[in-house]
Formats: sequence, C-alpha cells, structure tokens
Amino acid sequence: MIPAPFEYARPTSVDEALGLLAGSDDAKVIAGGQSLLPVLRMRLNAPELVVDIGRIPALHGIRDVAGGGAVAGGGGAIEIGAMTPYHELLASDEIRTELGLLHDAVASVGDPQIRHRGTLGGSLAHADPAGDCGAVALALEAEMVIAGPAGERVVPAADFFQDLFTTAVGEDELLVAVRFPVHPGWGSRYEKFVRTAQQWPIVAVGACVHMADGKTISAARIGLTNMGPTPLRARAVEEALVGVEPTAQAVGAACAAVADGTSPPSDLNGDADYRRHLATVLARRAVLAAAGAA
Ligand SMILES: Cc1cc2nc3c(=O)[nH]c(=O)nc-3n(C[C@H](O)[C@H](O)[C@H](O)COP(=O)(O)OP(=O)(O)OC[C@H]3O[C@@H](n4cnc5c(N)ncnc54)[C@H](O)[C@@H]3O)c2cc1C
Repeated sequence: MIPAPFEYARPTSVDEALGLLAGSDDAKVIAGGQSLLPVLRMRLNAPELVVDIGRIPALHGIRDVAGGGAVAGGGGAIEIGAMTPYHELLASDEIRTELGLLHDAVASVGDPQIRHRGTLGGSLAHADPAGDCGAVALALEAEMVIAGPAGERVVPAADFFQDLFTTAVGEDELLVAVRFPVHPGWGSRYEKFVRTAQQWPIVAVGACVHMADGKTISAARIGLTNMGPTPLRARAVEEALVGVEPTAQAVGAACAAVADGTSPPSDLNGDADYRRHLATVLARRAVLAAAGAA
C-alpha cells in the first residue's frame, strides 16, 4: 500500500530537527526506515510530518569516550551515533573486539539490505521486543543520550525500555547516541533461535561473563530478547551464576530460573511455555560459550 500523504523535512543539525519536532503536533522521525516505512505503508500510522535525520553528521559514527564518562566500568566507553547503520558496526574492528556481544547480535539482524539501511538508534527507539539490540544494550549496561528542548540527558538502558514499542524518548526528543562501557577481560555470546534464516528471533539470550580466577564465574550480565513486552535483564540468574564453575550441569542449574517473572508472547512460532523452555537452553549455551571466550 502507498502511505498517506505527509510533509517531508531533512534537517542538517540536531537543533534543526528538534525545532521541526517542536513545531508539529504530529511528526515522526525516520532513520533507516526499515521499521517505520512498513508501518506507514500499512497505514498503521499517518503522521503529517516525517523528519528524516539521515543527513545530520553529529548522529553518525563510532568514537571512544575517554574514561567512560558517567558509564560504569573504568574501561572507557564507545559512543555510537544513533544514525550509525548496522553494516558500519559490523565493519568496525573496534566493535568486533571491544563490544563482541553487540557485533554478534547485529550480524544476526535481517539480511544485508536491512543491515545497510537499519540503524542502531532506530532499532532501540523502535523498541520492538523481538529486536536484537535491546537485550544487548541491557546486558552491556549501555547509556542512551537523548536530546530535547531542554538539552541533553543520559538514560541508563535499564530505564529506557518502558513498554511495548515505548521508550524514554519523548515526542519532541531524539535519541542521539548510545554509550557502551567496555568490559576488558569479559567474554560474551549472543544465542538467537530462529526457525528460518534471516528471521526475527523467536527468543534470544545475550550473555557477558567475567572469570576472575579462570575457574569460576565472578560476574555475569544476561539480556533476554522476546520474553516480554520489553527486552529484559535476568538479574536473579546473574547472581546465581557468581561462584559457579562453567560446566554444563552447574550453569544449567543456575540458568533454570531464567524465565521466571517473564511474560513471553504466544504466536505461530511458538507458545509462551515453548519460549520459556528455549530461554533456559539458550541462556545455558550463551553463558558457557561466554565463559569459554573469557
Ligand atoms: C524484513 C526485515 C527483517 C528484520 N529482521 C530483524 C531482525 O532479525 N532483528 C532485528 O533486531 N531487527 C530486524 N528488523 C528491523 C530492523 O532492525 C530495523 O532497522 C530497526 O528495527 C529500525 O531501525 P531503522 O533505522 O530502520 O528505524 P526507522 O524504521 O526509521 O524508525 C523506527 C522507529 O524509531 C523511531 N526513531 C528512529 N530513530 C530515532 C532516533 N534517533 N530518535 C528517536 N526516534 C527514532 C522512528 O520514529 C520510528 O518510530 C527487520 C526489519 C525488516 C524489514
């Protein structure tokens, strides 16, 4: 279907974009368009103004943040502009070596066309619970940099995802960048279960693991994809993994409760109980692989 008519603007600065958003009661930001265009074409949304943020240089690129700023960890942080497309992340040696979890998750998104157009910021702002980047942002304890009429604010990933397709970004705001703390010495793995190639995840689990003495797990971070209306963090399992040897039995026991408190959907790909089972299997695999890579 053809979208309903709309006005189109292509600002060249964040301030200009914010001015356009402030001046309209019914504006929508477009980034890579991979999620928004289908919505417009199906006429599930018909904004009067579409603000294309693709030509704003400040929203592009990958840069080091010395000292990590407000981001915890002490290993510094990498800031990624919201308009940075997936393929640029995949081509970056720094992302591959320092943010392996993000690299693995992004490599699994859609197909090459989607990865050339789709952006990290668009994926996070869209907040589809089946999107691969949300659980990764939680597990890596990312921070979202949001610009609005009152200036910039920084929101931890844990407070960013508020409900189905709903984030902390207001109607008159823009997600401008995402800061990922670097965790030196941690291993990671993204385990995604799909029925066919290039599919959205039925369930996925992202794990980061630190092995203090090389024998037992000293810290773990686990993010869950498609196990509720928002990406989730499995904090009880993270605690249960501390002090555990990375054997299939011990890690499996610690991960057995990973689906507790989740509310996964039921659909043609599987019902909620199937997804709960999948989450325990994928969590065990992800943690074991991350521990091996640490
Ligand atoms: C066939 C197909 C397969 C796919 N498979 C996967 C998959 O396996 N895994 C996966 O994770 N995703 C998948 N996707 C989705 C893809 O990752 C999208 O690119 C992503 O969800 C949205 O990014 P975008 O840059 O295209 O955003 P857009 O579609 O342009 O925007 C999405 C939403 O975010 C808002 N927005 C965008 N950028 C900003 C910003 N900077 N500030 C504020 N609001 C903003 C827009 O207003 C809109 O509401 C798939 C998509 C398609 C079409």
